[in-house]
Amino acid sequence: MEYQAKELFAKHGVPVTIGTVVENPEDAYAAAEAHGGRVVVKAQVKAGGRGKAGGVKLAEDPNDAVAKAEQILGMDIKGHTVRRVLISPTADIAEEYYFSYLVDRAARQYLCIASTAGGVEIEVTAHEDPDAVAKVAIDPLVGVDDAKAREIVAATGFPAEVADEAVDIIQRVWTVFVEEDASLVEVNPLVRLGDGHLEALDGKITLDDNADFRHPDHAAFEDKAAVDPLEAKAKAKGLNYVKLDGEVGIIGNGAGLVMSTLDVVAYAGEAHGGVEPANFLDIGGGASAEMMADGLGIIAGDPQVKSLFVNVFGGITACDAVANGIVDALRLLGDEADKPLVVRLDGNNVEEGRRILDEANHPLVTLVDTMDGAAEKAAELAARAQDQGGS
Ligand code: GDP
Ligand code: MN
Repeated sequence: MEYQAKELFAKHGVPVTIGTVVENPEDAYAAAEAHGGRVVVKAQVKAGGRGKAGGVKLAEDPNDAVAKAEQILGMDIKGHTVRRVLISPTADIAEEYYFSYLVDRAARQYLCIASTAGGVEIEVTAHEDPDAVAKVAIDPLVGVDDAKAREIVAATGFPAEVADEAVDIIQRVWTVFVEEDASLVEVNPLVRLGDGHLEALDGKITLDDNADFRHPDHAAFEDKAAVDPLEAKAKAKGLNYVKLDGEVGIIGNGAGLVMSTLDVVAYAGEAHGGVEPANFLDIGGGASAEMMADGLGIIAGDPQVKSLFVNVFGGITACDAVANGIVDALRLLGDEADKPLVVRLDGNNVEEGRRILDEANHPLVTLVDTMDGAAEKAAELAARAQDQGGS
């Protein structure tokens, strides 16, 4: 969210005016008073385009700030409910610029995108007036030193009066990008104020959560109210869960196998009225029985799931352990388990794994030997359940 991005900007010396975050309209009064009466009230959601959506409003005085906060709180902006607003002193804006750093995966470099035509959506500017948008490649081994910052300033066409300050800020924003392990830092607008100085008036930062272990303070940035409850549960158990739109719940071990499973299910689903994967959960290369139990509980907890497909290649954890995990999980879930489950096991100790499942003879479980066959079965079961459900 903007205020969080601004906290990180402030930490690294990027000029910002943070203001005060409030959750109730009444609290906007004192906040506005503290910031001089005339303020801007800004929706705090993890989405851009708040201004256009009516989520950024100027207020004349503290009473007006309360009224504006009342209008903005509870608003839905691109599927995000506004639970907080930021009350900031109004900025005296002379010019609005766009500035960002991001990862250019194809070029194996970082990329700076900047424009003196900021404030509006950069995608629109890039489309309508591509020459107004500068793109400068950054060598990851060198980063943004003084020379690179000057190159960016020249390429963007920042006015001469702000060039030196821009060089300084551009390097500070780079420090935010690198030291906070971000994959995107965007400042839109970076403004030139009436007094000639530059300030980040808005900020968007995407943090790389693979680096969370280096940043215990980043945990506070998570918007717990907005996180999918199943995703939160999976994360707490150390599982990688991703919600999709279809009907077949997928559990596999290892990213490669899970990705292929998504493909074969989508392909098999074409013959069954367009059945698709509902979600997927990667229980990792060393999938333990306990992880399988956790995973089944999470996947089956998604109301969109009509059938489940467990696709495991036994490696470090042998198939018998996985089979026992499935049997234990179903016992644990009891009546909560009410969706058909197609299992395909292969690899280490597969015979014993299949024997365990055969012996358990659970009414919901169908064991299929091949990946394509299992995907076909899971798609068929999902389509049938959907027909019976009348949806
Ligand atoms: P976004 O629409 O989600 O990107 O939200 P921004 O924070 O970028 O605000 C949108 C626009 O509102 C900015 O580009 C500015 O033009 C305007 N704005 C934001 N804060 C102020 C302010 O303090 N004073 C003035 N005059 N305009 C502001
Ligand atoms: Mn913006």
